Amino acid sequence: MKQTNISIFIPHIGCPHKCSFCDQRTISGAQKPPSAKDVTALLESQAAHLTERGIRAETAFFGGSFTAIPRGYMTELLEAASAAVKRFSCYSGIRCSTRPDCISEEILDILKDYGMTAIELGAQSMSDEVLKANERGHTAEDVRKAAALIKQSGIELGLQMMTGLYKDTPERCLETADEFIKLKPKTVRVYPTVILKNTRLGELFKSGEYKSFGFDETVDLCAKLLRKFERNDIKVIRLGLHASPDVERDKLGGVYHPALREIVESRVVLREITERLKSLPKGEYTIFTDKRNISRTIGQKRENIRRLFELGYNIEVKERAGETLCVVPKEEI
Ligand code: SF4
Repeated sequence: MKQTNISIFIPHIGCPHKCSFCDQRTISGAQKPPSAKDVTALLESQAAHLTERGIRAETAFFGGSFTAIPRGYMTELLEAASAAVKRFSCYSGIRCSTRPDCISEEILDILKDYGMTAIELGAQSMSDEVLKANERGHTAEDVRKAAALIKQSGIELGLQMMTGLYKDTPERCLETADEFIKLKPKTVRVYPTVILKNTRLGELFKSGEYKSFGFDETVDLCAKLLRKFERNDIKVIRLGLHASPDVERDKLGGVYHPALREIVESRVVLREITERLKSLPKGEYTIFTDKRNISRTIGQKRENIRRLFELGYNIEVKERAGETLCVVPKEEI
C-alpha cells in the first residue's frame, strides 16, 4: 500500500534560534501558524481521497521545531492529528521534525501518548565547527543524545543533514553520514544548502566570505551519500528542497534543482558503470538494464553517455527486464 505524508508546516514560532541559513517563512511557504481546527479540516478533507486511492498517510508537522512550540498549542495539534488516526483508517500515524536540543524523556512521553510514529531531527552536520559557524546553538553530542532517547522510546528516528554550509567541506559531510549511520536512523533527508535572502548566510555570500559547494560537486557528494546510506539500509526519503516559488524568489545561490534526486541517482549509476568499465578496454559497449533504470543510466540530457564517451567508451543502452546493469562488449552481442 502506498504511503505518503500530509505535511503541515509550522513556521518559525517557538524557535529561539536564527540559524545562518534559515528563513523558515520562505522554506515552509507558510506565514500563519495553523490552528487545531485547520488541521482537523485538512485531514477530514483528504480522508476520502486517500481512502479511494488506497493510500495511507502520516500527518507530518514540519517546518519549524515542533517540540519547541508552546506546549498547549503543540498538544492541540497532536490531539487533532491523533483524532484523525482514530477516525479514519487511511491515517497511520504522526511524524514531526524538531531540533536535537528540544528532545527530552518528558517530551517523548507526551508524543508517545498521542501516537507519534516518527521524529526527524534536524542535525544538519556532525561537525561542531560547522554547527557553531552556522549558529545552530547545539552540538553533535546533542544529536547523539536525542537520537538515543528517541530510539529508546520506540519512536522511529529520522535524521536530516545539510551539505555546503558555512565552513563545511565534502569530507565533513561524509563524516556526518558516517556518524549518522552509527545512530541507526530509519530515514535520512539530505538538503544541499540554498542561500536565501534575509539570512546570515545570504550576508556572508554577498560579502564574498562564504561560497557554497558547486552544483557538480554537490551531485558527486550526494551520490556518495546516497550510496553510503543505502548500503547501510537507511532510506533517503528526500534529497534537495521541494520545488517552491518562495525559494525560487528568495534564493541568492547554493544548490537548488527540482530534479536533483534524479540527477544524483543518475550519477550513482555513472559511478557504477565507470567502476565496471575500469578494467575493460576502451571501445563500444551495450548496457542492458531494466526499463525503470533506462533514463537514470542514460542521464539527464544524455549526461552519462557523454561523460563515458569522453573516457573512451561508446555506450548504447538497451532494455532488458529484471537486469540491474549488465555491460557487454558490442561485438559479443
Ligand atoms: S532551529 Fe530550525 S526553525 Fe529555528 S532557526 Fe534554526 S532552522 Fe530555523
